[in-house]
Amino acid sequence: MKYTEKKRMQQLISPDQRSLYGHIELLHLAKPESVKVLVQGEEWIPEKFNLYGEPLFSEEATLTYEEMEKELQDTFSDENFVLKAVVTYEEADFSVPRELYDSSDGLHHAIRSLESFTTLLNQRRMWRKIATTNDRLREFVVFGKYILDQFGGVLQIEQEPISCSAYPVCPKSFFDFHAGLYSLSATCLLPTHESVCPCCGKGFTMDDLQYTTLKLVDGKIAHESCG
Ligand SMILES: [Zn+2]
Repeated sequence: MKYTEKKRMQQLISPDQRSLYGHIELLHLAKPESVKVLVQGEEWIPEKFNLYGEPLFSEEATLTYEEMEKELQDTFSDENFVLKAVVTYEEADFSVPRELYDSSDGLHHAIRSLESFTTLLNQRRMWRKIATTNDRLREFVVFGKYILDQFGGVLQIEQEPISCSAYPVCPKSFFDFHAGLYSLSATCLLPTHESVCPCCGKGFTMDDLQYTTLKLVDGKIAHESCG
């Protein structure tokens, strides 16, 4: 299936809070190689693509976009004028069997490595992108620390309320029943298999997620014991 959408490029702040980038949200999953973006009839080449195949642009590009929009607002004497890019793309398939990312067995399998755990979390996010509104994922708690929510998101529990070493993965309803009161962290410190600690230069593993306290250093996830 091929789609054309007219969308405004949104200006966002990078995860390390140090720069801006542009993002065009699309209604469907896109094949990155098929995405073509036209701004005022001119093709703009995305810097990269996110998990959903949506185009991302550099800070320079997003500032240029903002300037062009302002100029057009002046030209039309209309401060509400919105500059929209025309995006054409082919829909990407997502046909991963649901039990792989939405079952206790699937999760037990995925927590064997940070790479497979990251893949599972991405599959839950992609499912969310294409889900019909009434459908929900099953919720799990991993290591008594990370809540995988029904919308494909991950929340972090501020303090481990009970020892969960016997249950690396448990359904959230079971966890809630046994854990009692707990609070959630404002940010979720969850590195991927591609993240590197900025202090010691080492990559992260599932052991770090399970046993190590992590912190933010200049917007990047680091071991608390480093630096
Ligand atoms: Zn480190």
